[in-house]
Amino acid sequence: MLAQRMSLLSGSGTAAAREAAKVAAAAGKEIIDLAAGEVIIAPPKTVRDGAIAAIDAGVNRYTDSIGIMPLREAVATKLTASTPVKWTAENIVITNGAKQALLDAALAVFNPGDEVIIFRPCWPTFPSQVLLAGAKPVFVDVKGPSYVPTIDSIRAAVTPKTKAIILNSPNNPTGAVYDRATLQAIGDLAINDQLWIISDECYSSFVYTSEAHESIVTAHPSVRSRTILVNAFSKELAITGWRLGYFAAPPEIVSAAKKLQSHTTSNANVIAQHAILHHLSATDGVFEKHMFARLTKARTDGLAILARLPDVPVPRADGSFFFYLDLTELLAGLPVGGPVKTVDDIARLLLEETGVASVAGSTFGDPVGLRLSFGALPELLIPALEKLVGTLNALKSR
Ligand code: PLP
Repeated sequence: MLAQRMSLLSGSGTAAAREAAKVAAAAGKEIIDLAAGEVIIAPPKTVRDGAIAAIDAGVNRYTDSIGIMPLREAVATKLTASTPVKWTAENIVITNGAKQALLDAALAVFNPGDEVIIFRPCWPTFPSQVLLAGAKPVFVDVKGPSYVPTIDSIRAAVTPKTKAIILNSPNNPTGAVYDRATLQAIGDLAINDQLWIISDECYSSFVYTSEAHESIVTAHPSVRSRTILVNAFSKELAITGWRLGYFAAPPEIVSAAKKLQSHTTSNANVIAQHAILHHLSATDGVFEKHMFARLTKARTDGLAILARLPDVPVPRADGSFFFYLDLTELLAGLPVGGPVKTVDDIARLLLEETGVASVAGSTFGDPVGLRLSFGALPELLIPALEKLVGTLNALKSR
């Protein structure tokens, strides 16, 4: 008999989509994976060199549960350079990816019965972790093409029980990048109503519009005393499997995380910590520029192909590396009683008949969305999108 809390969780939908793609590939089907939330590229040499040097030097012991001090200092320096706020190691916790940083935040801040505002479509780990902490997710639905919440819709969701707002800009799955005015209004709301802000900025390196990504603490520096700023090297350096993330927060949250991590994972992998430390001191930025240029081209080429879908608005894809399609009109135009009715049917059809793995919006609490990653290898991405457009345009006649 499992604990009741397990009934609060469904498995990760994005992992399930990846799994379905692997099963189809293992069965001999040629599958192009546009489901994965990662850029397919070899990691930077500086990261690999740092790891090899640490192994060769015999680095092998437990570290402080919130990370080695030089890495916490280096992350503080990086954040101080990218925001108008001064951070020190006292503010930094090194985690096993952003996922653990978010769980630390949830366990440190939420009480049973607290309400936590989440913008939907959302990455499913946000509500799952809120539930694990005994709190209640309160969803505020955002709509395309911008997928940026209005401040009125957020205000309407605030009650005396509201404890926090979870932000994720640039956004997974929608690709939205929140503008400065919206971030400032959210900051004002948090200050007035004494709310925490948990700001997941994992995709901060991937913004394609003229406006650069702004952290919530850049848009509204005085909100830092109630902000837990989450980030990771997973997406930025294409090292999702290395599990290295961090958060920056007031010292009381850092102390709470120190206790939590000491009883859960002990510390993030020591080799990965040293690898990133080396990278931060040795990088010339060429890897990051190369990856960004590749994604920028993939986005431009991909959008040109997706523009050939007459019933689907061309997504904005301002940030992250996802095209998020709004299939409202396409679904409404499908023959009544036909075999394809939902976004899940479409994702299944794309996988089984077209050989393209995608993630249905239902995974993100949205019955009309479809997420496609443009982090796939360019030589695979383009044919996959061409095939997908062909399949979607032929759906009406099925
Ligand atoms: N936050 C968001 C919004 C994500 O999309 C993901 C991964 O898909 C993560 C966090 C997880 O990051 P990490 O692999 O560093 O735990």
